Amino acid sequence: MRVKLKREHPGAIQAHGEATYPNECCGLMLGRLVQGDKHILELLPAENARKESDRHNRFLISPRTMFEAEKRARENGMDVLGFYHSHPNAEARPSRFDLDHAWPFYSYLIVSVSQGRAGAMTCWRLADDRSRFSPEEIEAG
Ligand SMILES: [Zn+2]
Repeated sequence: MRVKLKREHPGAIQAHGEATYPNECCGLMLGRLVQGDKHILELLPAENARKESDRHNRFLISPRTMFEAEKRARENGMDVLGFYHSHPNAEARPSRFDLDHAWPFYSYLIVSVSQGRAGAMTCWRLADDRSRFSPEEIEAG
């Protein structure tokens, strides 16, 4: 299963990560499942709902934001297919926290932001037994 982003999505995610640096940015990825691939059609930047002292290495999307995103997706024939967030001064690999808080099905895209500059981007999906993440291929354009 691949995650297909629109041409402008990687730049938008990187810009979001740089804007919130040194805190984590987060957002939702809306789109459609097409023959097992996730076609991302729209990004919904979200506010990091963690308390300020935790925002440098944690993110939280509030239930209200999730609800509104689900509604917006449904009204436009889409689904919430995943989430993106940044890792300020850390690699684009899921943390233990990410693993503990991940749900099945969704894609988790991570962008590394080092010294304020966004870099590598990776995508992950929880394995069926929930013990680890499996990498997902990102395609843009
Ligand atoms: Zn993370």
